[in-house]
Amino acid sequence: MDDEALEKTLKAGEILKEVSKYLEEKVVVGAKLIEVAEFVENKIVELGALPAFPCNISINSDAAHFTPAKNDERVFKKGDLVKIDIGAHIDGYIADMAISIDLGDHSELIKASKEAVFNAIDAVKAGVDTAKLGKIIEDTIKGYGFKPVVNLTGHGLLPYIAHAPPSIYNYATQRGVELEEGMVIAIEPFVTDGVGRVSERGECEIYSLLNPKPVRLKLLRDLLSEISEKYRTLPFAKRWLTKAPEIFISKLVREGVLREYPVLSEVSGGLVSQWEHTVIVEKDSARPVTF
Ligand code: MN
Ligand code: MN
Repeated sequence: MDDEALEKTLKAGEILKEVSKYLEEKVVVGAKLIEVAEFVENKIVELGALPAFPCNISINSDAAHFTPAKNDERVFKKGDLVKIDIGAHIDGYIADMAISIDLGDHSELIKASKEAVFNAIDAVKAGVDTAKLGKIIEDTIKGYGFKPVVNLTGHGLLPYIAHAPPSIYNYATQRGVELEEGMVIAIEPFVTDGVGRVSERGECEIYSLLNPKPVRLKLLRDLLSEISEKYRTLPFAKRWLTKAPEIFISKLVREGVLREYPVLSEVSGGLVSQWEHTVIVEKDSARPVTF
């Protein structure tokens, strides 16, 4: 990892740390989800980075990929278990972090995911197998009597790629991948009192450019050039686009130009907590990026 990559990654992380300080006071019963999402995204810009993906606000059994639409009227409710997942990048160098906020009585679920991420980070250094991290995460979560969500993973971060190899599973796998010095990785245990799997539940507000191929219609061409110039390969929200009729978006998805990220929800309706941090793999330890 060169000096520029290091400096920009660390700065993106500093910005997320700063943004995250406001979350507890913003995520309160009665506050609108869209206000929190826009606050986060604007604050990231104000502090000198760009959002690496839309602010994800996943509540209760939703685990990931929910972001409110522009006209979304939903508010936080008493009892909610709220996951806020935020990302910032500077010239493509990404930091990724998530916290859970308790508007009910979910402190054990939240403690389990937070402890799991820090236990895993304690074991990070060059040469460690990701399977070992998975085992640490699983053991921590089971120690609380809960289950990890098995089909959501941590991941590497590369310039303009928010989900790069290696996948870091939240349970012990047969074999993993050896961490290498200089890798930027995000570890993100998801913990549930349900069965431990998520599936798509239909709603979708987040997309990314998958395969930019020539399109004939001028309106579609304009839309695609807006996307590729502003977001490249990073996920974006429908509400970020100046003009994006539903019919265009679905056409581009059908043609394989855009990838969609539908909301992922725990299949049995279990509650889900999440905690995530980005670190840089060093020879003998992990260098914190987002804490
Ligand atoms: Mn994240
Ligand atoms: Mn992540």
